[in-house]
Amino acid sequence: MKRWLSVLLVCSLVFSLSWTAFAQKTCTCAHTPVIYIRGFGGALFDWETSDQIYPPQKADFETAMPKIVGGSLALLGGIYPLFGTLGMQAAAQLLGRAACDAQGNPLIPSGPERRSLPAQDTHGQYREGIADYAFRYDWRLDPLIAAQELHTFVQHICRLTGHAQVSVVCHSMGSVVFASYLYLYGADEIDKAVCLAPAFGGVSIMGSLLSGEAVIADKADELTLFLQSLPGLTDARLKTLVRFCGKWGVFRFVLHWLQNALDSQFDRVFRACLRPTFVTMPGLWSFVSEQYYERAKAFSFGDDVQYAALIRKLDRYHYGVQAHLTEILRTAQQSGMQLSIVSGYGISSLPLSRTHTQQSDFLITTACASLGAICAPFGQMLPKSHVQAVEDGHVHVSADSLVDASACAFPDQTWFIRGLMHFDFPYRNETFVRWLLEQPTQPTVQTNPDYPQFMQQDADVLRPVSE
Ligand SMILES: [Zn+2]
Ligand SMILES: [Zn+2]
Repeated sequence: MKRWLSVLLVCSLVFSLSWTAFAQKTCTCAHTPVIYIRGFGGALFDWETSDQIYPPQKADFETAMPKIVGGSLALLGGIYPLFGTLGMQAAAQLLGRAACDAQGNPLIPSGPERRSLPAQDTHGQYREGIADYAFRYDWRLDPLIAAQELHTFVQHICRLTGHAQVSVVCHSMGSVVFASYLYLYGADEIDKAVCLAPAFGGVSIMGSLLSGEAVIADKADELTLFLQSLPGLTDARLKTLVRFCGKWGVFRFVLHWLQNALDSQFDRVFRACLRPTFVTMPGLWSFVSEQYYERAKAFSFGDDVQYAALIRKLDRYHYGVQAHLTEILRTAQQSGMQLSIVSGYGISSLPLSRTHTQQSDFLITTACASLGAICAPFGQMLPKSHVQAVEDGHVHVSADSLVDASACAFPDQTWFIRGLMHFDFPYRNETFVRWLLEQPTQPTVQTNPDYPQFMQQDADVLRPVSE
C-alpha cells in the first residue's frame, strides 16, 4: 500500500512540474513577434563538420586563382575550349561543395545552425533591424521544404513569446519560401506580411539563362544604359568612361567577342558543369518566371529520365505555388493577414535576355516583383496617350510616367521605390518597414502622405517621387 502511495506522490509531483513547464504563456502586448525571412545566398555549413560550404572562402579562391588567370588569358587569346575547361575547373573548386545531385538533394547537407531555434524571448526589440528573429534556411532546397522548416520556426516563436501569431518581413527569395508556407499551412498564424523586392514572380535573367537564350552580342546600348542606371555609379570619371565605351563601340566589340566565347562553350559548360551541379538546385528554379518555365525545363533536362524525380519536385512548386500566387495571397488576406509589397524600379534589368531592358531593382523586374505593374521599357516613359489600365478612383500612374500600378494584383498595397538596389531593400527601409508593421489595420498607399505609392531613395531618406 505504501509503495502505491509513493508512486502516486511521484506521479503527481511530475505532473505538477511538467504543468508549470508547459503552461501556456500568453503575451497581450500589441507587438506581434516579427520574423525576417532572408533572401537567396546565405552562408551554408556542412552538417557534419561545420565547414563552410558556401560562399567560397579565401583558400578556395587561392586554389582556383591559377585556373581563373589561365581561363582569362585563354579567353583573351581566343582559345575558347581551354577557356571553357579552365572555367569549369575553377567553378568546381569554388562552388562544387554547394552542388546538388540529379534528384535535387544537396551533396553535402547543410546545418545544424540553420535549424537552431531561438531560446530567448526578445520580441519587440527589433534585434534584426526590421525584425525580432531571423529565419535561416538552405536556399538550394525546394521552397516547400524550407516552408516546412519555417512552420516549425513560427510555432516555436509563438510558444516562446506567448503570441498566437507572428508577422513576417521577407526579402527576395524569402517571399518564395513564405508563399510556399501559405500554400501549405494557410495564414492562421500570420498577422502581417511585408514582402520586400519579392522574387515570387521570378527573376528576369534566370529564365533566359536556363533556356539557353542568353544573348549579349547586340546589347551594347542596353549595357551602357544599365551601367548608367546603377545608383552606385556616382564617380564622374567612371560615368565618362561608361559614356565613352558606349559611344565609341568598346562595349559592342567586347560583347561580340564574349558572345563568340559563349556560343562556342555554352552548351558544353552547361551540360558538363552547370547542369549536374547548380541547375539541379530546386531553390534556383523558383527564380524562373512563368513564361520561361516549360522552355527552361526542356532545354535544361530534355528527356533525360534521371531528372524525372527532380522535375516532379519543380512542378509541385511551380504549378502549386507560383502559378497561383495571387490567389494564395488573396486567400491569406481574406483570412485577416495584412499584406504589403514593396518593389523597386528606376534601375535597368541586366541586359541578358532577348527582350529589351526593363524597369527593375537590378535583379528583379518591377513587373514581376509588383505582381503585374505596367512599366515603360527602361530609358523610356509611358506614352503620353497612356490611360491608367484599371480605374479604381485613385491615381496609380507614377509622376515620372514610368509605372502604372493599377494593373498590380494588389494596387493599393504595393509601394515602389525608385533607385534602390535589390540587395539594399532590408537595410535602407527600417522606418518604413516598421511603420507597415505597426499599422493596426491594412495600410494602403493612401494611408500616410509620407509613404505614397511611389518613393525615391535619397541617401537614407525616402521621399515621394515628384517628377
Ligand atoms: Zn508580446
Ligand atoms: Zn487604388
